[in-house]
Amino acid sequence: MKSRRIFLQKAGLSALALNISTFNPISAMPNFLDSKKMDEKPLRVAIMGLGSYGTRVAEAIQETKRTKLVGVISGTPSKVEAWKTKYGIPAKNCYNYENFDAIKDNPDIDAVYVITPNGLHKDQVIRVAKAGKHAICEKPMAVNAADGQAMVDACKAAGVHLLIGYRMHFEANTLEVIRMRKAGEFGTPLFFQGLSGFIIGDPSQWRLQKSLSGGGAMMDIGIYSINGARYMLGEDPIWVTAQETKNNPEKFKEGIDETIQFQMGFPSGAVASCLSTYSMNNLDRFFLNGTKGWAEMQPSTGYGPINGKTNQGPLDKPHTTHQAVQMDEMAAIIFDGKKPEVPVNGEEGVKDMKIIDAIFKAVKTGEKVSLKLA
Ligand code: NAD
Repeated sequence: MKSRRIFLQKAGLSALALNISTFNPISAMPNFLDSKKMDEKPLRVAIMGLGSYGTRVAEAIQETKRTKLVGVISGTPSKVEAWKTKYGIPAKNCYNYENFDAIKDNPDIDAVYVITPNGLHKDQVIRVAKAGKHAICEKPMAVNAADGQAMVDACKAAGVHLLIGYRMHFEANTLEVIRMRKAGEFGTPLFFQGLSGFIIGDPSQWRLQKSLSGGGAMMDIGIYSINGARYMLGEDPIWVTAQETKNNPEKFKEGIDETIQFQMGFPSGAVASCLSTYSMNNLDRFFLNGTKGWAEMQPSTGYGPINGKTNQGPLDKPHTTHQAVQMDEMAAIIFDGKKPEVPVNGEEGVKDMKIIDAIFKAVKTGEKVSLKLA
């Protein structure tokens, strides 16, 4: 079994590295993957929002063992036509933002993956829940904790899952650091540093419009340091402090944060020091320090490969497409009730939103803001 797993890992890597049209080791294998596909009912997914990340997820779904792209929801007819052709999506599974409530009468769609601007997630997820479909929603799940909680409540009332696209929760090197921390290999974790940022381009994009984004870098990229602090330390913060730096108020208008430095305190006494920015490139670094050891990852949350090392040596788990692993794991959560190592449910998303609310409050007031996430 072990050697087969290693072979599968190697085959997967080779397929990515080589020109698949000349040599495809997966199709050359005995029909292990094919039979798996046929044996298990796939999670049949419709993607809402056919933008840059929606496109990445659609491609990743093609690599999965247990999920299938069967539908789209889009406001752009030309994109719908292109996706129909590319992915063999039937016309009856195509919707727009006005008529997608009718998805409730479509027995061929199990889940809708909402990959639209942040400010639209709440209403869209609630409509998906009311249509009786499972909702997968991109991060940040909403633009504040109250909206996130309304989404959780709506999905609960409808008896459907709400899962947030926290792809790092399934990434192999990240999970290895979490395993080591849980096994006590770093001793008592005392400090986390998270640096998350990139230089954002086009000033007219939705990410810089408060009504669609809910904020600036913090909602988009700073959330990785917030979420990462929690899974790296294995605790939820009880206070935050935060300071904002705005060098370009023309580009980063009122309500759109450019750079925020923030600190979090945890019940054990551990602390985190983080930076979220839209004005510096190559900021994607996590560092965890404990009484007996440490882990550092750079890049720590990009699409991969994730690179890093610990005091014991390099992190060397093979790279796999994050979104493909995430989708297969989400199918297992929905169909098998699988409990992931780090949760990806709506409640997990609300915790991050509560922290973001507290960070914004700390920036405004200059005060240390207490948090109760449980
Ligand atoms: P994008 O701009 O590339 O795509 C957004 C899509 O939403 C477009 O197809 C656009 O047409 C559609 N849309 C629908 N209504 C719209 C409106 N009123 N205004 C603007 N666009 C509208 O953005 P993206 O990068 O794909 O991001 C979408 C979501 O995915 C965001 O919540 C973002 O945070 C998240 N995301 C997550 C990751 C990740 O690694 N998990 C990476 C990138 C983006």
